[in-house]
Amino acid sequence: MERWIYLDNAATTPLDPRVLEEMMPWLTERFGNASSHHHAYGWEAEEAVETARARVAALLGAPARSLVFTSGATESNNLALKGAFGAYRSKGNHLIVSRIEHKAVLDVCAALEDQGAEVTRLPVDRFGRVDPESVREAIRDTTILVSIMHANNEIGTIQDLAAIGRICKERGVVLHTDAAQSVGKIQFDADALGVDLVSISGHKIYGPKGVGALWIRRRAPRVALLPQIDGGGHEHGFRSGTLNVPGIVGFGRAAEICARERETEAERIRALRDRLQAGIESGLEEVDRNGAPDARLPGNLNLSFGYVEGESLLMGLNGIAVSTGSACTSASLEPSHVLQAIGRRAERAQSSIRFSLGRFNTEGEIDETVRRVVSTVRRLRELSPLYEMMQEEAGSGGGDPANR
Ligand SMILES: *Cc1c(COP(=O)(O)O)cnc(C)c1O
Repeated sequence: MERWIYLDNAATTPLDPRVLEEMMPWLTERFGNASSHHHAYGWEAEEAVETARARVAALLGAPARSLVFTSGATESNNLALKGAFGAYRSKGNHLIVSRIEHKAVLDVCAALEDQGAEVTRLPVDRFGRVDPESVREAIRDTTILVSIMHANNEIGTIQDLAAIGRICKERGVVLHTDAAQSVGKIQFDADALGVDLVSISGHKIYGPKGVGALWIRRRAPRVALLPQIDGGGHEHGFRSGTLNVPGIVGFGRAAEICARERETEAERIRALRDRLQAGIESGLEEVDRNGAPDARLPGNLNLSFGYVEGESLLMGLNGIAVSTGSACTSASLEPSHVLQAIGRRAERAQSSIRFSLGRFNTEGEIDETVRRVVSTVRRLRELSPLYEMMQEEAGSGGGDPANR
């Protein structure tokens, strides 16, 4: 494969070489089962797991003993929602989520509806923000869980979780957050945010794929969850199965690097993102930004390009790895559920591109991307009769903004 410029860090991040180095012995000579309590192979594996647990929990500002390792944020979300639904059946069956949650929350909700759950899906404003007061209004006596993601994977919007947390606390409702995109990238403190369940993923923070965690508040309140994987009673019975020691060690090292480097890295990535944004916006007209102006992940830039066709745009950007705003099912030009929820009209949504920047991106890559995006969009627009009409109308002073 020729080297593509990688601007899809919200989908997955490359493994940091420092993480790989720390994982290597645990893939080779230190192969013990962390549950083998009768010999040194097991002891050293268990110790490595506990070191990793402390490192990951520290990144959440939370006590380590209530962190459960899973296979990733998808599994963590499943355990949080299905686990709470199973454990709190006697209290109620009502869940509250937002319309812009990751599929790993929305699809779980749909599955739970088949088992008798009632689900409220809260709308968001044009920036993708949930109004905390709408959470308050949606809470019923039968509400057992609120699940609102911390930062959105498509448009990068960061929610006011602290306000939502205060409301949930007042009403005695458990608050889960899918923080796969935010932890390690922006400040996160489980107590300050008032969250009770937190899902995170290793491969979004330069760790390995196939490992993640669910943090479960064990005091004030003590959150109960019905396990979804039984057998062996690992992880305090919350998640059975032999621990993925190399993956967990790598996740721990990745978390430790993020904790130390997060602030300077965020500043660097934000500057690159702003450079990309300014370069594209100064080179092209009719570009809309999706997401919140300020409360947005430092590495996220989601743009809708008017008067170009999404497929042609992607083809023109061959060699630059990005994501689009249309639902991933290749045949459909349906805008993603997130772009729909912020009110993006279909023809603009289908020509939306998500650029997500990360640790290993360089200024040179950003400048090359600006050149490629600007020249591709200009070339496509030269072929577009609609764009020509718009320019003529604008030239005669009669451009109708409603048509843009
Ligand atoms: C990537 C992602 C997930 C899924 O995480 P996996 O570890 O790949 O299962 C869930 N939620 C959000 C917001 C994500 O960005």
